[in-house]
Amino acid sequence: MGDPRVVIVGAGAAGVGAGMALAEAGFDFLILEAASRVGGRAFTDTTSLPDPWDQGCHWFHSADVNPLVAHADRLGVRYHPREGFGDYRYWQKGRWLDQGERDAQDAALDAAVAAIYARGADGRDVAVSDLLPDAGDCNAGRRHILQLMASHDPEDVSALCYSDYADTHANWPVIDGYGTLIARLAGGLPIRPNTPVRALRERPRGVTVVTDAGDIAADAVIVTVSTNVLAAGVIDIAVPQARPVLDALAHVPCGFYEKIAVALKRPIDMGEGVLSFTVEPEGRPPVNWQLPVGRDRQLLGHLGGTPARDLGAAGAEAMAAFGLEQLMLAFGSDFRDEVQAIVPTAWQANPFVRGAYSEARPGHAADRRAAIAARTGRIAFAGEALSPDGQTTCHGAWSSGQSVARRMLAEELRT
Ligand SMILES: Cc1cc2nc3c(=O)[nH]c(=O)nc-3n(C[C@H](O)[C@H](O)[C@H](O)COP(=O)(O)OP(=O)(O)OC[C@H]3O[C@@H](n4cnc5c(N)ncnc54)[C@H](O)[C@@H]3O)c2cc1C
Repeated sequence: MGDPRVVIVGAGAAGVGAGMALAEAGFDFLILEAASRVGGRAFTDTTSLPDPWDQGCHWFHSADVNPLVAHADRLGVRYHPREGFGDYRYWQKGRWLDQGERDAQDAALDAAVAAIYARGADGRDVAVSDLLPDAGDCNAGRRHILQLMASHDPEDVSALCYSDYADTHANWPVIDGYGTLIARLAGGLPIRPNTPVRALRERPRGVTVVTDAGDIAADAVIVTVSTNVLAAGVIDIAVPQARPVLDALAHVPCGFYEKIAVALKRPIDMGEGVLSFTVEPEGRPPVNWQLPVGRDRQLLGHLGGTPARDLGAAGAEAMAAFGLEQLMLAFGSDFRDEVQAIVPTAWQANPFVRGAYSEARPGHAADRRAAIAARTGRIAFAGEALSPDGQTTCHGAWSSGQSVARRMLAEELRT
């Protein structure tokens, strides 16, 4: 068999999106994946706990315009269509807040997001933190949610970049797992796992792809690895046209987001329609705990930004102990007996991802936009960071893969 005409580097959502577009056009291609599984940051873990859980993406964001919803329908992957993120509870200063206090938390966050989008509209590229007035008791909760949205601290995120994201506020959890959906979409595509790409080299009318199993002479390459993998330099990209994109994406790093998954011995009842609760210990970062739809014996704790970085660096045992301590604060020390198992994620330590998802640093939103607009010939880049209005998300990654592949078919690969 000869070399494929196109090589896609990475079988995450973007690589699968690109592959689906090339397959639809009947084009000859191969996806090389470093890991032993497909999906990248879309990963439904079916083995570590009694019930499956998404280690990475779980929500169809902007679900009413999200192109992956139609694929879920086609494949019978279940999701839960609903407004917003559902009702929630909030534990602070040793008690559960009342409705009025929760409304104040919501108002503080809504005002922050409105200020970020307003600043995006006026085009000045400041840090998100510059737009946050003192919100008193709501400061920590607001910071926590912004850290989850961006995976960075508000000081490290360009408000302009943040507001590039087109948010329709429809967020639907994927009951069967977002990772399951991406793995199903990957089924049937030509994918070679356990094959890290080591280098990409320019050659006449194409690119040489260097792997441990040998070189591939391709007409074109689509690179879909995370911006932190690109910045780490683990793929030696010796193609001069790529340099401006690599330089621009150095200002669009992935931040930190880790989950703590807890299997419970018995269902937990937080009240009708409650889909999450937040525990904010005095002087310590809060954690938002999700009650996953369809899994009444499971809790998923969410950490973003610096707290995720620090706890992730402390290791799995420290993360599990931290999660248990959090839950015992809110529910009493007997809660320990309710817990069957605790499993944390380790995205920052994953050598093929090296973080969570990307935002431009303050002052660098234009770099991300320039990287998206750049025409780099027979090497092209796709992924969540390169989605014009879906950065950070799985559907943004998938759509970016689709549009880069279609553009290549129409331009570089036309003859
Ligand atoms: C904890 C967490 C929660 C999230 N929650 C949500 C959510 O609820 N909703 C949402 O929409 N998004 C969410 N996201 C973001 C979403 O998962 C990502 O934006 C999306 O999956 C990124 O896809 P990608 O294809 O751009 O990159 P990746 O998924 O990183 O894919 C790149 C692929 O390249 C491979 N690779 C790396 N190096 C090499 C190499 N040298 N050679 C070959 N292959 C290589 C990797 O193994 C990987 O499979 C979340 C992410 C995290 C981490």
